[in-house]
Amino acid sequence: MLRIGEGFDRHRLEAGRRLVLGLVEIPHTHGLVGHSDGDALTHSLCDALLGACALGDLGALFSDTDPANAGRDSGDFLAEVMRRVRDAGYELVNADCTVIAEAPRLAPHRDAMRERLAVRAGVDVDRLSVKATRGEGLGPEGEGLSIAVRSVVLVRKMEEGE
Ligand code: MG
Repeated sequence: MLRIGEGFDRHRLEAGRRLVLGLVEIPHTHGLVGHSDGDALTHSLCDALLGACALGDLGALFSDTDPANAGRDSGDFLAEVMRRVRDAGYELVNADCTVIAEAPRLAPHRDAMRERLAVRAGVDVDRLSVKATRGEGLGPEGEGLSIAVRSVVLVRKMEEGE
């Protein structure tokens, strides 16, 4: 049985912060504001996975008011989400993530992001796609105020004993 999930996340950009996207630190003048490391790509992917399996959302799993999650590596979130996905009897078929960011250019970092996400998710890298698009000057992403990410995933319910 196949199920689909969708995830969306948006974080504000602030000067002088480190930029972490898809578990990769990317050199830039601005970084994402968040209680954790602000990794909107990983958060969006986590929410899509949870959505596909009807397991709630990332905010319910990892509260943004819990001091234990302050500055936390979002790879920890992804590993825990995948553990729950597998416990519920599902495997990730594939995920497709679209990052909307005016800057910096993300293409040079795309494969590094895919590889790190695949390691923390415990899946083959060919199951994970990361794409980037610019906001063309429109909306908060286009104006360079934020970065947003949309993710779609497909999961498959595993057979008994598989
Ligand atoms: Mg987030």
